[in-house]
Amino acid sequence: MKIRNKLTLLFALIVSGLLIAFSLSVYILSANFRTDQFYSRLKDRAITTARLLLAVKEVDSGLLRIIDRNSLLLSQEHILIYNNDNELIYNSLEEDTTNISLNIINKVRLNNELRYDINDKEILGIQFHKETKHFVVIASAYDMYGRSKLQFLKLILIIGFILSITIIVFSGLIYSAQALKPISKVIYQVDAISATNLNSRVEEGNRKDEIALLAITFNKMLSRLESSFNLQKNFVANASHELRTPLTVIKGQIEVALLKNRTQIEYEEILNSIHDDIDNMNSLANGLLELAHASKDVSEITKNELRIDDIIWTVQTEMQKKKSYYKILIEFDNFPDNENDLLIFGNEHLIKSALSNIIDNSCKYSSDNTVNIKISFNKDGFLLEFSDKGIGISDSEINQIFEPFYRASNAKSQKGHGLGLSLTKKIVELHNGKILISSKINQETKVVIFFPKLI
Ligand code: ADP
Repeated sequence: MKIRNKLTLLFALIVSGLLIAFSLSVYILSANFRTDQFYSRLKDRAITTARLLLAVKEVDSGLLRIIDRNSLLLSQEHILIYNNDNELIYNSLEEDTTNISLNIINKVRLNNELRYDINDKEILGIQFHKETKHFVVIASAYDMYGRSKLQFLKLILIIGFILSITIIVFSGLIYSAQALKPISKVIYQVDAISATNLNSRVEEGNRKDEIALLAITFNKMLSRLESSFNLQKNFVANASHELRTPLTVIKGQIEVALLKNRTQIEYEEILNSIHDDIDNMNSLANGLLELAHASKDVSEITKNELRIDDIIWTVQTEMQKKKSYYKILIEFDNFPDNENDLLIFGNEHLIKSALSNIIDNSCKYSSDNTVNIKISFNKDGFLLEFSDKGIGISDSEINQIFEPFYRASNAKSQKGHGLGLSLTKKIVELHNGKILISSKINQETKVVIFFPKLI
């Protein structure tokens, strides 16, 4: 069922319930009021008749009947008076021989007053005392006006109920359609968005109500999708470009070499240069492969308990084996009492690769090829701080350096593909860590990595 119909139905059900309860209370209260009123009128009639007959000497049954016939009577009024010995001493309708059972007369004597009804006719029995005598007066009548008024009230309530419900259902349908219109609009607009027009946005309306908030949230999601889509597109374009450049250079070198006969030394030079270019391509391919590996689902990556200090020392040794001119200085700010606090749950190869990238950057972008690594521990994990006194990164570029293939304008003189930092960030995040970079152009660069410790 559509929300629109559901809302209308719910609304109509609630209002019907309230209306039914209201109408029933009005009807029941009116019916009770009518009965009470009619019984008190009957009582008045019974007392008046008894007084006239028993207290006024000049009035006898015949005269009383004549008086009654000429006064304003209740509909189907019938009054009977019984004496002390339960003998009928007055019957307002001579022709009506309806007799009242002794049982009822006794009940009236016992309770002083008795009310009951037969076939919609209200009957009232009261005791009337005159000196030592106790009479019983039974008055009955049909409440024609009261009952017809009640009938009319019933009709009005039923018609009112049907009319109100019809109006409520229609207005509910119109109102809910109106209220849900913005949602239909959002659905329509979202439906029109595909990969080719991810830059489109949904109208945000008044930016205040829930539907506007939904549209705003949706737009935020679209922005995130758009940027990751663009990143993806740029990634492929950049990767192809990075691979094509060395290939073009290699092709150019071979073509130049083939133009004429060359000496042994010249051929060696050309082959060495091609070898360098292939090395370059190799490192790019390795970088891409590692990035793909680090982009896998966390569950697909094998993790073990590792000692962070061991990893740092190993990375230092391995780096120095490759580039002996790098100066990698390691300093422990504090050392945990418990050796378990040195443990991290992670993938050894990925962590090594992340740390190597940072160390390599610090050394290659500083003239003294030196990196200072400070390691400190706290209750949550450990901080690794890598600082160098190198070329630095400008404020305008520092926010982009984690994007794949991005290289700052002052870094082009050094070899690189701009993949290291984005790979490092991915690896750190895969281990629930954080990475921050701060820099002052031509002065220093500091990279801080936090890894949570094994709990
Ligand atoms: P690259 O292969 O270019 O070094 P990275 O992803 O490792 O790629 O780094 C991205 C860019 O960040 C670098 O090109 C450089 O502009 C800047 N960068 C990273 N580390 C440093 C540093 N220690 N000093 C100065 N610039 C740095």
